Parts: sequence; C-alpha cells; structure tokens
Amino acid sequence: MGTQPIVPSLRRAASRPQPAPPAAADAWQAMTAELKPPLTAEEAMAESYRCLLCGGPYAQAPCVVACPSEVDIPGFIAAIGEGDARRAGEIVFAHNPLGGTCARVCPTEVLCEAACVLVHEGQRAVDIGRLQRYATDALLAAPAPSPAPAPAGRRVAVVGAGPAGMACAARLAELGYAPTVFDERPEEGGLVRYAIAPYRELADPLPAERRRLEALGVRFVFGHRIDGPQALRALEAEFDAVFLGVGMGEDSSAGIEGEHLPGVWTSLPFIEAIKAGRLPEVGARVAVIGGNTAMDVAREAVRLGAREVTVLYRRTEAEMPAFRHEVEEAKAEGVRFSWLTAPLRFVGRDRLEAVECRYMRLGEPDASGRRRPEPVPGTEFLLPVDTAVEAIGQRPRAEFAQWIEGLRFEGGRIACDPATGQTDNPRYFAGGDDVNGGDTVVEAVRWGKAAAEGIDRYLRAGGSGR
Ligand code: SF4
Repeated sequence: MGTQPIVPSLRRAASRPQPAPPAAADAWQAMTAELKPPLTAEEAMAESYRCLLCGGPYAQAPCVVACPSEVDIPGFIAAIGEGDARRAGEIVFAHNPLGGTCARVCPTEVLCEAACVLVHEGQRAVDIGRLQRYATDALLAAPAPSPAPAPAGRRVAVVGAGPAGMACAARLAELGYAPTVFDERPEEGGLVRYAIAPYRELADPLPAERRRLEALGVRFVFGHRIDGPQALRALEAEFDAVFLGVGMGEDSSAGIEGEHLPGVWTSLPFIEAIKAGRLPEVGARVAVIGGNTAMDVAREAVRLGAREVTVLYRRTEAEMPAFRHEVEEAKAEGVRFSWLTAPLRFVGRDRLEAVECRYMRLGEPDASGRRRPEPVPGTEFLLPVDTAVEAIGQRPRAEFAQWIEGLRFEGGRIACDPATGQTDNPRYFAGGDDVNGGDTVVEAVRWGKAAAEGIDRYLRAGGSGR
C-alpha cells in the first residue's frame, strides 16, 4: 500500500521507462569536468598579446576598476607576455590572496571581462579569468614555502576560514599583525570548498593558497567551533580585535508541507554531498526552487543524470537573481525554467513524488522595489519529480547578536561601517557574506581586505579593550 503513488497523474509518469542512472564514475567525471579548462602556455601567450595594456599613472585600466580586489590585470598579463608566468602569479596574489580560486569561480563575464575595452570595440574580451588561472597555477606549482613564525605584532582573531577570513588574515599579516584563523571545519575555504559547484572548483587550489598565507605568518586552527558567548569571551581575552567572516547560516526553507520527505533537499547539503563524492541519486526528474544558487544545483542535477530538470521561480526571468550568462548556460545544458511558479507543497507517501505548484502574477512593488508575486487562484498543478532541491538562500547568523554586546543586525546582515567593516562593538569587525547577505567570492575578498585595513587603523589609534 505504502509504495503506491498517491497522485493519479503521477501513475502515468511513474510507468514511463526511466533512463538508467549514469555509472558513478561517469557522473563524477561529468560533475568535475571543468567549465573553463586551463590554457596551454602557447594559448596563454597568444591571449596575452591581445591585451592593450590599458591604464597608466593617471587612470586605471577599466578591467582593474571593475575588479573588486583591484588586481593589476594589465601588469600580470604583461608578465605572461614576457614569458614570466610566476611573476604574473605574484602580481595577482599581491592583490588577491585567493587569486587562484577567483580565477576559477569569478563571474568574469560581468566583472573585468565586461569592462574590457576590446568589448567596446566589438571584439571578444581578453580571457582574463583563464590568464589569471594560468599565472596563479604557475606560481602555486612551485614548492610550497615554509610556514613563517607569526609576526610579532598585535594579535587578531579571524573567525571563519572562508574567502573573507583568508583575505583579512593575509592583509593583516602583511601589515605586521599576528592573525589566527579559526574554523569549525577541518579545512579552509568555507563555502568555496563546500558549496561551489565542483565543475568550477573542487578543492584545489585552496590548500596551496592556505600554505601561502601560512608562509606570511597566518596561523590556522581548524575544528574550533565558536558556538557561544564563552568562546567569544576567550577570544576577547587573547586577541586585540576579532574579525567575523562567518558567512550565513543554514539554508532557508520554503516552510511548506512535505519538506521532510526523502527526495527533498536543501541546496547546501546537496552540494556538499556532491563535493564529498557522495553523489545523490536524483532520479529522472528534478525540481529546483530558487534563484542564484539554483543555477548550480540545476546544472549539477543534469550531470547526475536527471532527464528533466526544472527550475521553479515565482517571478519572471527579468527578476531572476542569477547571472544572465549562467541562466543561458543552464538552458543550453537542457535545464527548463517555469517562471511565475511557486511551490505549495511536496507530495508523496513514502518519498517525494511531485511538487504541487501554483502560477503567480506580478503585483505592486514591495519594500525591495521588486513587483510582488501574487497567486493566481485555480492554477494549481502537480509537477511529477523524483527529487526537489530548495535553493532559496540562507539564514543569517543572528545568534551572534546575542553573544556579542552591541552587535547589530539589519535585514539579516551584520551592521557595520562599509569602509572598515567595524561593527557597533568597536573590537569586532565583519565582512563577506555575513554583511552582504551572500555575494561573489571576490566581493568577500574585498570585504576581508577592507576590514584588515580598518582593524589596522583601529589598533594604531589605541583600540582594544584587553
Ligand atoms: Fe587588457 Fe582589456 Fe584590461 Fe585593457 S581592459 S588592460 S585590453 S584586459
């Protein structure tokens, strides 16, 4: 009894022949095949010659202006053209301690490459992302430098070994401070390691980037959870300032009936399972609910062998909070989109069998300025699926407001001075996803660097309540 489908329309769908799931090795190969493979030396050299080496003493090149971490792009491309790829890598890392990671995961199509002057002359942009990958790979291939002793300067705790924390620690070490990075996970990288699609970056070059930071004197303490006020008081007793690069919390859920059913996932555990090599068996039909992260999840479902992958989004394509090129790439890979569609409940007896949905229409603008989706009565329908993934964002780490005196949240984000990252508790600084609600890796790097400068100013001015 319990195994009978409970939705009549599902019986037809369930009786259709299902494709055999791909062999695990094939799925893993598809999952980890890089979207942007590395350039050969010849390709890198040829591509570097396309660059006009714009900019000068009075104006930065437009690609540099568009880069949140202000990498000297013409500088490193010129070094590649001179045949010195390692020096090119050093130029990148001087501005961005996660230069190898950003070369892989940055949406260059909307940042530096969108600003490239060649585009305005009707040509293809210089392939800045892959040139940066070439340069940083060359440098990271050199023997790992030995860890340096911590600088003798004042001590700063960095909570979170994600991009913001690593960038903050790197800049602090360069400024002469002794930063210690704490993370509850066993490895560095934060969401880059656990939540970025494996076809963008699996794990490398994060370990090599961490070793470069250790060579600057940054100390990492993994498996150390900051889980309450006592843990923070211990940091306050030992460190002069604290940087919070804790990101956002767990996935939000739609809070609808049936979320407990096997076959219903939220995005972070789904991606983390894939990155750990535990490939979920998604079946033939997958629904993905949400916007930006939904693009990666949907494309991962395609690589897992799903035959029909449908993204459900309650507004129209124009409001979709995903990069345009990623939507187009997902479409090219066969992902379908059901616009103006909201899930009402997950349906199934022993496991997920369908998502009940309803069509929406756009009403008046809400507080965010976007037109509010409103239900269209009588348009309910069942979408038969084997797996559904909710990718609708993450919860704020609001517990920190109870643990840290004076820390304030605004709209689910830590409130801070955007120029320095300093919070309303002057010893605490913040940056990255926990202050912007979730943005690019390179934007988190920018926040980390800015907060390090803010901490430096604060401590040089005599700050610290120790
Ligand atoms: Fe080179 Fe384009 Fe940057 Fe000019 S804008 S320096 S051509 S990458």
